[in-house]
Amino acid sequence: MRLSKTGYYADFVVYPLLLVVLGWVAFRTTASNQRWEGLLVFVAGVFLWTLLEYLLHRHILHRLKPFKGLHDLHHARPTDLVGTPTWLSVSLFAGLALLLWGSTDAGLAGGLTAGLMLGYLWYVSVHHAVHHIKARSGSWLYRAKLRHAMHHQPGRPCNFGVTTGLWDVAFRSTRRIV
Ligand SMILES: [Zn+2]
Ligand SMILES: [Zn+2]
Repeated sequence: MRLSKTGYYADFVVYPLLLVVLGWVAFRTTASNQRWEGLLVFVAGVFLWTLLEYLLHRHILHRLKPFKGLHDLHHARPTDLVGTPTWLSVSLFAGLALLLWGSTDAGLAGGLTAGLMLGYLWYVSVHHAVHHIKARSGSWLYRAKLRHAMHHQPGRPCNFGVTTGLWDVAFRSTRRIV
């Protein structure tokens, strides 16, 4: 949905703060021999985010009402301040953490959710950058911009991955610039 300037940039302040606090709490409450395990779960969460990003974008934002209508606002005016309010995304992550906590243990629930949150922060940062920041030809950001520019082109829906093209390759939804 359309956001105010403060609402749009809130993710870039709230998520780093939350991640630092969560990381500090996890470090202080986890026994030293279990920290590697926690780190592994955290990294798995970041990786899992890239799949979630693809599935949410392709199947929810491009297909399901009312999310489709809200996402269409971004497609119509890509540089406008359109996004998901921070309170909503944080609430969803908190809900997920509680759900996981109920069925597993606090370490797994916290580690996985924190990994997903870092993945989300990376996603909103890359998505902001591809629309608002100039990139040197041949750089990683330049390629991400090209990939996402194709997503915004009319025609066969493609290139749903913003942070990586991996899942577009896996699910055969890639389109390259010709
Ligand atoms: Zn889209
Ligand atoms: Zn976009």
